[in-house]
Amino acid sequence: MAKSSPRAKAQRSSPGFGTLAVHAGQAPDPTTGAIMTPVYLTSTYVQAAPNQTKGYDYSRTCNPTRTALEGNLAALEGGGWGLGFASGMAAIHCVLNLLQQGDHVIAGNDLYGGTYRILRTLYEKFGVKTTFVDLTDLDQLDAAFQPNTKLVMLETPTNPLLRCCDLAALAARCRKRGVMTLADNTFATPYLQQPLQLGCDLVVHSTTKYLGGHSDVVGGVLVGNDLALRQRLAHFQNSCGGTPGPLDCFLVLRGTKTLHLRMERHCSNAHTVAEWLEAHPRVARVFYPGLPSHPNHQVAMRQMRKGGGMVSVELKATVAQAKKVAAALRVFSLAESLGGVESLVDHPASMTHASIPPAERKKVGLSDGLIRLSVGVEDVADQIQDLEQALARLR
Ligand SMILES: *Cc1c(COP(=O)(O)O)cnc(C)c1O
Repeated sequence: MAKSSPRAKAQRSSPGFGTLAVHAGQAPDPTTGAIMTPVYLTSTYVQAAPNQTKGYDYSRTCNPTRTALEGNLAALEGGGWGLGFASGMAAIHCVLNLLQQGDHVIAGNDLYGGTYRILRTLYEKFGVKTTFVDLTDLDQLDAAFQPNTKLVMLETPTNPLLRCCDLAALAARCRKRGVMTLADNTFATPYLQQPLQLGCDLVVHSTTKYLGGHSDVVGGVLVGNDLALRQRLAHFQNSCGGTPGPLDCFLVLRGTKTLHLRMERHCSNAHTVAEWLEAHPRVARVFYPGLPSHPNHQVAMRQMRKGGGMVSVELKATVAQAKKVAAALRVFSLAESLGGVESLVDHPASMTHASIPPAERKKVGLSDGLIRLSVGVEDVADQIQDLEQALARLR
């Protein structure tokens, strides 16, 4: 903006989300001018003299394609730094390495199945105990704190019930006690919601999902502001080695360039699908944060731009019938994962959440007739027609 226009300048002091999505972290390649960040397929870097590097020495520790991705994702989350990982679980694992034997964790009770698994089957045996509570109920959070609580791990919206906890209120309570908050922002993406701005300490993503956005790469990232924390986490990242390859970083970078465009379409399609399902006679209940019927609708709309691309539906159906509906869909492919341009359907009880014991599933309201839709960016009329023909099989 020209210097002579201070008013316009004040209105636009920092780039908008779409501009950051396309450009942040990336500059034209200095050697050739290539506009796209090259895929630096190299394991090592020539040094002018021993220990005299250009900032890169070995690609587990750092790689220029990864640096670009880390810068891009940090900017999108409004954070100071990013650290890239080979998967979302590698990123979560890195944070858990901050803990010691005897420490206590509070986690949401309908977390991603893999997060539940690493806490229960790995960290518990090292003497780190986790209490799982419904984090949409702040009284449950307050009751779960112990003197040795070090970390609160949350997702919002959760998987698969799409519960939304109040990020600002939760972060404030944890901060008062000196407890770190880790927000898994995979379902919302930074386009819809920015947990760091609401007071959380760390954000984690499975970039496999919306950030990559095309179901062609597995990856993860951590974003935060505290530089001392970054140093500790980068030490674990380098020590444990779960870092992403440069081609994976390139694919996620290509994905984030259109994140804002894709999320708009994911959200509008999901909203339309959710409203249609809510009126269907074979549907017992629809879980979509963008609908007023959702129990956390108000909290969701306070902290999210829109309702997101995920819709969960409780069918008036037995397990066998729910599986049949899921398998009969054509535009929606039966598959685990989510967040790609194509629509997917999942039956949590037999697929993504099968590692959670049945009694535990029942307790958190994860019924056998529940199916989870990742609503893609196809034409919504085709998505609805597909749901109509599949639900007709319940008659
Ligand atoms: C997929 C997912 C993860 C795990 O990420 P991976 O990339 O599969 O390791 C963690 N949290 C949420 C919410 C997820 O959807």
